Amino acid sequence: MEKQNIRLRFLSYLVIAYMMMAFTWWTVLLFTKNRDAFEAKSQLMKIGMIAEGVIKNDAQFVASAQYESLSKHYTRQEWMIVGEAVVFVISLVFGVYLINRGYNKEMIASQQSRNFLLSITHELKSPIASIRLVLETLLKRELPREKTTQLQGNALKETERLNTLVNNLLFSAKLESTYQANKEPLDLHELLEEIISKLSDKYPDASFTFKQEGEMPYFQGDKMGMISVALNLLENAVKYSGNGGKANIEAHLSMQEDGQIKLEIKDQGVGIPEKEKKQIFQKFYRVGNEDTRTAKGTGLGLYIVDQIIRAHSGRISVHDNLPRGSVFEILLPTG
Ligand code: ADP
Repeated sequence: MEKQNIRLRFLSYLVIAYMMMAFTWWTVLLFTKNRDAFEAKSQLMKIGMIAEGVIKNDAQFVASAQYESLSKHYTRQEWMIVGEAVVFVISLVFGVYLINRGYNKEMIASQQSRNFLLSITHELKSPIASIRLVLETLLKRELPREKTTQLQGNALKETERLNTLVNNLLFSAKLESTYQANKEPLDLHELLEEIISKLSDKYPDASFTFKQEGEMPYFQGDKMGMISVALNLLENAVKYSGNGGKANIEAHLSMQEDGQIKLEIKDQGVGIPEKEKKQIFQKFYRVGNEDTRTAKGTGLGLYIVDQIIRAHSGRISVHDNLPRGSVFEILLPTG
């Protein structure tokens, strides 16, 4: 596939180069023909004028009004040829640029869906395989009570993973068609505290700090949506801390002077390259390549977060945390 693409590209560049060369040749030819025509015409004119006795020598001919008008006409034609050539080259270059841009977009989209397929297959298959293994073990062997409980716990965790994945998939499909923020007054402080306490149990190696500045009014928002936003951002912060689950995560809630609520989730993890900071909010987008990526995921989380925030007329952005890691910043209007 890749080889075929390269060949196609090479062929199209060859055709373009040929067109350029052919066009240059035609332009040069037109130039010389134009000059020949001018010279022939001026010679004819000179002979005629000498015969009529209007002029006597070359100097008088060059100074004559007839010659001046002919020469003007010739120069105008020369400029027309140059103009045509420039327009042609510009439109060709612009056309090639547009085709290239479309082609690159297409390539990125197909790479993303390939990445998505690879990750989704893996994400779906591995919990199913684990649950199956647990069930087979439990069926085949009589195990001590402790071991059985441990295995059941593992299977339960895997089912949870599957559930989250399927929910995310369904949610993202819904976001495109029927999602509407089901708004109710929310106490964001309480909501975040609850989520963080659950996550602290789930990730015992990670340390979460939650701070709030000043008073916080009730926020009119969709509870399920807001939970999904916080969960996705906080779990990403753990996942991309790259320290075997050991992570330092801060959540910071504050009220802006302009009446907007600001929520920041800071981690000290691997960070996000500058040029990918916008792309990570696209559906299925994951930094790097699926084959080289270690953290599990589908690239749906941040897409969902972004869509939910938009449905609340808010904005989400990401910037670098110092000395390392990322800060996800959400601004939500209250009015
Ligand atoms: P997933 O985590 O399933 O891959 P997301 O949409 O949640 O999908 O995230 C998209 C990508 O953004 C991730 O694959 C990861 O590369 C990057 N990313 C998200 N959160 C962080 C973070 N806190 N630190 C570094 N990279 C992150």
